[in-house]
Amino acid sequence: MYAAARRLLSSRARTCAAAAWAPSYYYSHSAASSPSRPRFPTPREIRRGLDEFVVGQDKVKKVLSVAVHNHYKRIYNESSNKRKSLPCGGVGTSGDDEIELEKSNILLIGPTGSGKTLLAKTLARFVNVPFVIADATTITQAGYSGEDVESVIYKLLVAADFNVEAAERGIVYIDEVDKLTKKAECREDRRDVSGEGVQQALLKIFEGIVINVPRKRSRDNISHGYVEVDTRNILFICGGTFSGLGKMVIERHQHCPFGFGIQICHDLRNRGWTTALQESCYIDAIENDDLIAYGLIPEFIGRLPITVGLTNLSEEQLVQVLREPKNAIGKQYKKLFKMNDVKLHFTENAMRLVAKKAAARETGARGLRSIMEDILTEAMFEIPDAKEGKEKIIAVLVDEESVGPPHHRGCGAKIFRDDGALELYVYQNNIKLPGLIQSNPRRGRIFRLCLLVALSATKLWIYQTLPCFSSIYDWTGLMLCKANVFTQ
Ligand code: ADP
Repeated sequence: MYAAARRLLSSRARTCAAAAWAPSYYYSHSAASSPSRPRFPTPREIRRGLDEFVVGQDKVKKVLSVAVHNHYKRIYNESSNKRKSLPCGGVGTSGDDEIELEKSNILLIGPTGSGKTLLAKTLARFVNVPFVIADATTITQAGYSGEDVESVIYKLLVAADFNVEAAERGIVYIDEVDKLTKKAECREDRRDVSGEGVQQALLKIFEGIVINVPRKRSRDNISHGYVEVDTRNILFICGGTFSGLGKMVIERHQHCPFGFGIQICHDLRNRGWTTALQESCYIDAIENDDLIAYGLIPEFIGRLPITVGLTNLSEEQLVQVLREPKNAIGKQYKKLFKMNDVKLHFTENAMRLVAKKAAARETGARGLRSIMEDILTEAMFEIPDAKEGKEKIIAVLVDEESVGPPHHRGCGAKIFRDDGALELYVYQNNIKLPGLIQSNPRRGRIFRLCLLVALSATKLWIYQTLPCFSSIYDWTGLMLCKANVFTQ
């Protein structure tokens, strides 16, 4: 899809004098001529790629698409500047060439299960630059037990197959940065090694430093020294749920101006609490002061100039998550069942009910999977053993009864072993299932019998009235027998 961009981003460093990275066809132009700009994916194209896997979150998709497109541009600009500065590149530098394009790291704020990690993973599919996901909760300040921030860059280097230049233009997603807030229990005289200390350590790699990272280990596990990795061009995307931040924003707006979330302010004032959905409405109103009040240090926020919020998925969107994306949860289970030749069906109402249950749990799309597991566990347990004969399972159906009411467990998926049993059940309960013929299976059998009788009667009538047909029939049969067609 993005062939040129892939070539642009994945081509290994050339053995050119300066070893500057550049697209392979870049060199096909004469060094002195101004090379045509390689085509990298436009924000719209990246966005289209995200749309295939992620439901909703339009604003975040736009922000990420633009950020990644600009990341490509920056890499291109850097490599073309390096090339021009080579003695062999020889075109000299213009005023524009002295302008250095700086990166804009991104902070994603959104409730759990809204698609933060999914967006990052999906981006990784398209961009074809080394990409790594790190967990902020496992990082500690250097010198203390746990991973230090350099380990994130080491992982990136591993993802780049130890190609330093590729790693230097990679993307790092750091999840759970909201857990790095200053710990209240840490007194002034004690170091906050897993909170503020990590924020401080991350500042340096966000900004851009050259750090020493261990080289690839050989088979005998002996380290071969260190390599230097410059983090200046690595794009950092941070994500976190920041639970309670919405409430802080709402409180800041206690004296609501007319028309600004009056209902939410009213709820907060009268009940003292708000729902996650209400809080996520306020994500656009988050300001740096709110993040500082939450526990991030100003320098850390300053190095993440783009802050963008994800909203809680609505019930409608949760239904979409179940069935629409390329990797939809419903499609994943269907594939699992198909591997045992079993067809898995969901009724429309069952899907809605699953979405309703997940929305009630306030765990976003994460809730969908646990609800599905609950419904399908029994069927998944039975299917692999029931392979042959009468025991063989033919189809599994998830309907409203299987899911159950919002705050209770349902009876689980229904298992069908007989041919036509599902069709009969669906007919008797007036259930609409896409891809299944909605007719009385008994009536179907009677219809087929009548058709057979009618055809036989027609054949008999033709034999009686047109005798030449019977002689042609007999002659054809004789020829086929002679040719051993029936015995072979
Ligand atoms: P978080 O926001 O907590 O990082 P994840 O991105 O890990 O959430 O989402 C967990 C799972 O929920 C994903 O693997 C995916 O199946 C589903 N999911 C979450 N959000 C979306 C979305 N917007 N579109 C499609 N699937 C989603």
